[in-house]
Amino acid sequence: MGKKKEMKQWNKLIVIHFGELWLKGRNRGNFIRQLYKNIGLSLRDEKYDSIENARDRFVLHLNSDSDTASIESKLAKVFGIAWFAPVIVTDNTIAGIMKACMKLYGKNEKVRVVAHRSYKGLKFDSQQLISKFLKNKKKFGFVLDRDSEKEIRINITKTNAMITMEKIRGPGGLPVGSSGNAIILLSGGIDSPVASFYAMKKGLRPIYVHLHAYSDNKKAMESKMRELMAVLNGYYPSKCYFVPAHLFLASVLDTPREYELVLFKRFAYRLAEKLCEKEDAEVIVTGESLGQVASQTVKNLIATERGMRSLIMRPLIGFDKIEIINMANAIGTYGISIRSYPDVCSMRARNQSTAAKPDLIDKLYKKCGLDLVAAKSISKSAIAR
Ligand code: ATP
Ligand code: MG
Repeated sequence: MGKKKEMKQWNKLIVIHFGELWLKGRNRGNFIRQLYKNIGLSLRDEKYDSIENARDRFVLHLNSDSDTASIESKLAKVFGIAWFAPVIVTDNTIAGIMKACMKLYGKNEKVRVVAHRSYKGLKFDSQQLISKFLKNKKKFGFVLDRDSEKEIRINITKTNAMITMEKIRGPGGLPVGSSGNAIILLSGGIDSPVASFYAMKKGLRPIYVHLHAYSDNKKAMESKMRELMAVLNGYYPSKCYFVPAHLFLASVLDTPREYELVLFKRFAYRLAEKLCEKEDAEVIVTGESLGQVASQTVKNLIATERGMRSLIMRPLIGFDKIEIINMANAIGTYGISIRSYPDVCSMRARNQSTAAKPDLIDKLYKKCGLDLVAAKSISKSAIAR
């Protein structure tokens, strides 16, 4: 019987710990439910047995078909997870534990072994277990070293022993969806994908809108925007409205060039606001950062935002460009963002006013009938998932 048990393959689990969730007193239950759902969504193409809700953490039960590396890389992108750790569960005998630890680290790697008994009724204590490790050190390949940062943690319970190697950091933050929906103005540039990351990190469920300069939606959807979406969807699967900008561009042909950019932004904001109603969103997110370009002076932002009812969030407002670039690299969007792309905004963006008057923008906006143009443009949009 004992032998048979030893032959059995060890169970593998991943223990998942929450991040900021503990802060949230009463809402805690909702956050945990949302996180549970999001983990399931993130792992929808993966093979595993179950996700157990164990009050202050989740336990993901893997099986022999599980692709652990792929699962780990997906968990690392689920907001709300503070950290997770792959765990091997074995029987609570010295032999069983030693066998499970045998190949956990490579040859000559220095490893600290820490043992703890949650159940003290067994015949051996932690010290005796460690002594056994020391006595058999030649068998392990790795070298036991109590000062090493690499470690094996063994927690012995009444029914089994749980062996953990490493804590893997999650992205932290709040589960996507726990702060409601947001319309995100996504360009092909560096900033707005990073802003999207931070919006998601604070629990906003993204619905993207991209205004494109192509003659038809299909071309835009096949452009690099598709790859950008794929990276962002790795954090949370969503959809994007591809809206043609040609109606806008035709409508502003006769307005002074210097206001074109602010007018475009006003137009994009208003269009996003219309989508807010459609998508039950209260928030609009942009990649604006103060003072970075002509359209992002305080004065121009005021002129742009005049008359808006939705809350506008600009997660990058205090970032330096270099910080945004570093983040874009970390989340995997930078390489795509810097590839050339026919951006609506950059096409005729020279000599733009840095201090547009809100009243003037109101006037031009009305004169060009841009509210109607926004509604028309939405009706000509296509949705990509
Ligand atoms: P980004 O790198 O995000 O393109 P930027 O530095 O080019 O930003 P702007 O051109 O002023 O700055 O754009 C500011 C924000 O306006 C963008 O971050 C994005 O949120 C929104 N925006 C700009 N162009 C578009 C577009 N074509 N479609 C949707 N949103 C856009
Ligand atoms: Mg841009």
